Amino acid sequence: MALASISIVIPVYNEEANLPELIRRTLAACRSLGRPFEIILVDDGSRDQSSEMITRYAADHSGEIVGVLLNRNYGQHAAVMAGFAQARGEIIVTLDADLQNPPEEIVKLVRKMDEGFEVVGSIRVPRCDSIFRRLSSYGINRLTAQVTGVVMHDYGCMLRAYRRHVVKAMLQCHERSTFIPALANSFARRTAEIEVCHAERKSGTSKYDLWKLVNLQFDLLTSITTMPLRLLTIFGAFVSVLGVGFGVLIMILRLIRGAEWAAQGVFTLFAILFIFIGAQFVAMGFLGEYIGRTYQDVRARPRYFVQSVQGTSRLDPVSPGAQPGNG
Ligand code: UDP
Ligand code: MG
Repeated sequence: MALASISIVIPVYNEEANLPELIRRTLAACRSLGRPFEIILVDDGSRDQSSEMITRYAADHSGEIVGVLLNRNYGQHAAVMAGFAQARGEIIVTLDADLQNPPEEIVKLVRKMDEGFEVVGSIRVPRCDSIFRRLSSYGINRLTAQVTGVVMHDYGCMLRAYRRHVVKAMLQCHERSTFIPALANSFARRTAEIEVCHAERKSGTSKYDLWKLVNLQFDLLTSITTMPLRLLTIFGAFVSVLGVGFGVLIMILRLIRGAEWAAQGVFTLFAILFIFIGAQFVAMGFLGEYIGRTYQDVRARPRYFVQSVQGTSRLDPVSPGAQPGNG
């Protein structure tokens, strides 16, 4: 069997100081694999020299490096998607440009993919990030694993490898905000994880401030579930039931203790209020259910994804192979 070709997709946003070393080490790692490869550098609207440098690298290493220049900053995951659209390899590897994930680890990832996995993720050991980042990662990983049903220890690490058909399926998802590792796992059957080294950022600062991070977490949450909308209904039902219980309790106490106990009906008013507040939440929850469904449809994700078709029929021959089902 011929060795699968490799595409490396790297989003770049104001990384001029890291680019020379990144290119040197990534090229070395790819060449050591001894198979066809391409490196796709996606400039995510950098305001420094990054895009000029990418253009130069693409010219100097034609056949090995491809530059994709976006007109403005769209965010890391959008940039990676743009790279996916350009990628031609059978195995597609994503990598950060800041050298926090050593490019040498690509070799390990590809080895693992050769065992037949569709997605290979990575666990960063030791993790070189702030305690805040690690804590939020922990929560996110637990949640994602719960919802997607695919247990992975480190969804935040972008050093990952995907097989061509998984990437193709992701490209069919038309939503604006995506979280690629979670999305990929929803299209993969065989996944694995390996441990990779993690280093401090080589130079420059993190491109994620607190606000962008919060945004990313919401992207992840909404990309995998509409559960928060349903929580409204559940909360509302809970409050309503509480209100009814409260009302019944007041009625009983009123019968036992007499009129002066009931504080001129103030308690009763509260009970009624509870019921109505609950009802309002239930109503909001229902609205949410419709919004959630609209959201699902607007995203127009493939409804299912056929990995392969086995056997042939005598009726009308279609070429076998993975075909995403749309609509
Ligand atoms: N990045 C990007 N667009 C952005 C933000 C980041 O393309 O809007 C790239 C960035 O150049 C880097 C990768 O995404 O290659 C990860 O960013 P960073 O290292 O700043 O994130 P952190 O490691 O702090 O999570
Ligand atoms: Mg980084």
